[in-house]
Amino acid sequence: MPDRIRRERTLVFLKPDGVQRGLVGEVVRRFENAGLKLVGMKMLRPNRKLLDRHYPNDSGFLTTIGGKTKDAFATYGLDVKKQTGTDDPQEIGRQVRGWLLEYVSSGPVVAFVLEGIHAVSVARKLVGDTLPFRAAPGTIRGDYSIDSPTVANLEKRPVRNLIHASGSTEEAGAEIPLWFEESELFEYERADARAMFGE
Ligand code: ATP
Ligand code: MG
Repeated sequence: MPDRIRRERTLVFLKPDGVQRGLVGEVVRRFENAGLKLVGMKMLRPNRKLLDRHYPNDSGFLTTIGGKTKDAFATYGLDVKKQTGTDDPQEIGRQVRGWLLEYVSSGPVVAFVLEGIHAVSVARKLVGDTLPFRAAPGTIRGDYSIDSPTVANLEKRPVRNLIHASGSTEEAGAEIPLWFEESELFEYERADARAMFGE
């Protein structure tokens, strides 16, 4: 198997709500149990410069997050223009991104890098849907959160969904060097690797 797949890496961080709720151990346990290897970990309060780069101010990202608001408002028969002042997904996305940067920089987070087979998609599977009310039971967001963008946006805040995990290998490749120096990432063998992968 190519090393690229076996040793894929992803960037995860527990947001301030996850840290404040004492969920660090529970969340790390879930990833470790699944067979992902922790190769770096730290607590920090992210500054705006880091978050500005992590959550890019480009039309793709703004439209994605604004679109989630638009869809949720439409599903529940709410008038998005009346509530947010616009029905342009990019403009709504700009507002949501502002609340997100404010929130994620409001307290300490715990960031880590996980390594393993298809680490990016495996971590996303364990994390669950972005919107907690939709996240399946058994996922981190589904088991520990219930928030919705309809409620959150009316209160001018991002959804409280506990955790971030890179959405693609490209995102992971861009995010890991933003959060970790090369010297903060480690190579070691897990003692159970042979039983799990025949290594
Ligand atoms: P993450 O990147 O944080 O792992 P994700 O990839 O599932 O989550 P994105 O679309 O990248 O979701 O959105 C980034 C974050 O912005 C979400 O995790 C959430 O906290 C917040 N967010 C996204 N859309 C909305 C929205 N419509 N209303 C409120 N908050 C939102
Ligand atoms: Mg994302």
